[in-house]
Amino acid sequence: MENKKRKADSGHLLKKAADYIGRDVKSQNESKKLIVVIRLMLISVIIYFTINGIFCIPEWNLTVIIFYCIFFVIFACLFAISYIYRTIVTLWMFNVGMIIWICSIVHLFGWNIGVQHFIMVLLILYFFSSYRQYAGKILYAVFLCVLRIMLFYIYHYREPLIPLSAAKENTLQIINTITIFLCISIIAFIFSRDSQELESKLVDYNTQLEKQANTDMLTGLYNRRKALEYMEILIGKKKSAGLGGHKDYQGFSLCICDIDFFKKVNDNYGHDAGDEVLKGIAAIFMEEMKDKTFAARWGGEEFLLLFPGRNGDNAYAELEKIRRKIKEMKIKKDNTEIRVTMTFGLTEHNFSDDLDKTIKEADKKLYLGKEQGRDRIIY
Ligand code: GH3
Ligand code: MG
Ligand code: MG
Repeated sequence: MENKKRKADSGHLLKKAADYIGRDVKSQNESKKLIVVIRLMLISVIIYFTINGIFCIPEWNLTVIIFYCIFFVIFACLFAISYIYRTIVTLWMFNVGMIIWICSIVHLFGWNIGVQHFIMVLLILYFFSSYRQYAGKILYAVFLCVLRIMLFYIYHYREPLIPLSAAKENTLQIINTITIFLCISIIAFIFSRDSQELESKLVDYNTQLEKQANTDMLTGLYNRRKALEYMEILIGKKKSAGLGGHKDYQGFSLCICDIDFFKKVNDNYGHDAGDEVLKGIAAIFMEEMKDKTFAARWGGEEFLLLFPGRNGDNAYAELEKIRRKIKEMKIKKDNTEIRVTMTFGLTEHNFSDDLDKTIKEADKKLYLGKEQGRDRIIY
């Protein structure tokens, strides 16, 4: 019971701390995640000063203690400032503070404790802090690079102001390395998580857009655009993209079909009832034209059906099943049942044929079927 309460209390405290660090920024145009990263950097650096103090200060002189205390206060003030001023102000003050601090530490304790690697933290933070502004980023990178090289030349072989024992140098090197890794990980985690989320959202959005561009909104079947694209894939003019694509050219059977006297359905029962008929027919196509076959809404109340790798006789057998199912279909409207029939023009597309010619031929057969009395397949 006590344990549970303690857990709940610590959870509450953590949430409060997270809310405090994540409190929104001053300006509406600034990203919240940047100020969160800067605050986390400041907290890491403040903890780092404290740890340095605990481990090392007892043996240092008063000047060093005062020096560390001043930087502790400066970074604590910067943390407070992050709630008052704009993010960009805090960012620059953090950068300036860190650069002064890096140079001072290298000056005091020399090159071997590895504090100069904090320059990498500044570089990464600056690159992630804004979109574009490439010139500024390059200039800042050059500046940091020059600064590091300068520090190297000045301090690498020079005796530091306060020489440290090898053991203390090692301790500070480890503390610095851990803090630098922590800072870089925080920056990379927060910014990459964001961009990865964004990227996956973009992929989903693109997939959705592509689906919308290829789909007829009313019936859910493919649209004319997709049908043309698919036929180009079938004749080998275009590379396959899904749809169980066909690498090699293969012949297919093509059918164009049209609802009989559909205008009357609209006139007698209304446009909405007409739409329901279209949806009902589409559902039959979807059910019957499973894998390897393809159904699209070709226009108004016309549909295009494709049977890749099947000759006219095979396609005819499948179409006959579909024709009968449509004839049996009943769409309920108020107290009546709407029934329709369809006429089909079926043709084969062979290796040497022209696609337009095949489509026209199917169309001709469809109208022949209409002339002959409708509700039939002409092959
Ligand atoms: P036929 O047997 O000769 O094909 O006769 P029909 O009445 O079907 O032919 P017509 O081309 O004269 O009529 C087609 C009708 O289809 C006219 C148009 O209003 C209707 N139509 C086209 N698209 C839609 C749609 O999306 N929804 C509805 N409800 N009707 C549509
Ligand atoms: Mg019609
Ligand atoms: Mg028509």
